[in-house]
Amino acid sequence: MSCDFLSLARPGVQKLSPYVPGKPVEELAREFGLQAQDIVKLASNENPMGPSPAVKAAIAAALPELTRYPDGNGFALKQALAERLGVATDSITLGNGSNDILELVTRAFVGPEHEVIFSDHAFAVYPIVTQAVGAKAVSVPAKNWGHDLVAMAAAITESTRLIFIANPNNPTGTWIERAELEVFLAKVPERVIVVLDEAYTEYVETDDVPNGMDYLAQYPNLLVSRTFSKAYGLAAIRVGYGVSCAAIADALNRVRQPFNVNALALAAALAALQDEAYLIESRRLNRAGMQQLEDGCAAQGLSWIPSRGNFLAIDLGREAAPIFQALLREGVIVRPVANYGMPNHLRVTVGLPEENQRFLDALKRVMLRG
Ligand SMILES: *Cc1c(COP(=O)(O)O)cnc(C)c1O
Repeated sequence: MSCDFLSLARPGVQKLSPYVPGKPVEELAREFGLQAQDIVKLASNENPMGPSPAVKAAIAAALPELTRYPDGNGFALKQALAERLGVATDSITLGNGSNDILELVTRAFVGPEHEVIFSDHAFAVYPIVTQAVGAKAVSVPAKNWGHDLVAMAAAITESTRLIFIANPNNPTGTWIERAELEVFLAKVPERVIVVLDEAYTEYVETDDVPNGMDYLAQYPNLLVSRTFSKAYGLAAIRVGYGVSCAAIADALNRVRQPFNVNALALAAALAALQDEAYLIESRRLNRAGMQQLEDGCAAQGLSWIPSRGNFLAIDLGREAAPIFQALLREGVIVRPVANYGMPNHLRVTVGLPEENQRFLDALKRVMLRG
């Protein structure tokens, strides 16, 4: 092969680092000769409960129609979401995961002449979608690991077209309070679109964290994205959504793939939305597991970043990469976050009580060892 195809890729793409996902269980099993059932994965903020039986039944019921294209407009799911959220159906955009929404809004509105603002230590997809369209990524220093909305507003220039905010943020777990968000939104010019990524909003149980839906009527430049991947337990099936003014939704609808959400995903999401008990149990399990992780860390003299998500960024007080590797050998997969500018932290997803304990015990062993 003589052609250097990467050199043909657009400059933003050449400079991209691919997204690094949590290590799959099967991969670790292969590499270390472990049994898959002996491995604990707390690396991707997945719901440890497994899928709801109602969702599995809905997927099974949709199987006979696999030869048909799905409903490209997702009528039934949009209807149910609109009712639940108290918004109009034409304000909803469905996505192949909420990552799809983040990419659609960027492709629809951002070009090489634009700047996109996000925070240091924010979700890795923001720089990826920004660079993919050739725009300038503006990463603003964080404050106590969280978004500094004052500094982010100050970073707005004539060229700014989009701002990403994750609330709560991944991988830090930090959150923005209502008053902060309100002051910020009031400062952003209308020509700048604000994407409020609420992937973990269903886990939030305190009322200091704002609900993005409350601001849509006042701010037509706001897009709120949410997902079925986390608290609803459907990471594998890929479905999320955006809520915005109808004009922004219309623009997203023009650039999306005609069938971006598949038929099984539509059926699964609809069933998940109706399974209130599953969500309640997800929250209960998360609350208890978060406490267990915090208590376990405190007992080991470790500190962490307080989190409103379903994960905890733990400060090991030293380079985390070797500890991550040692945990792998113990059959425990967590997430190193050095690529987020956090070389001393490990991000651990709240799991089932026995999974959390496996992690805490393994962490204690490997920290003592070296
Ligand atoms: C997990 C996550 C998402 C959701 O990704 P999906 O594509 O919906 O699975 C979005 N934003 C943040 C901050 C996340 O952590």
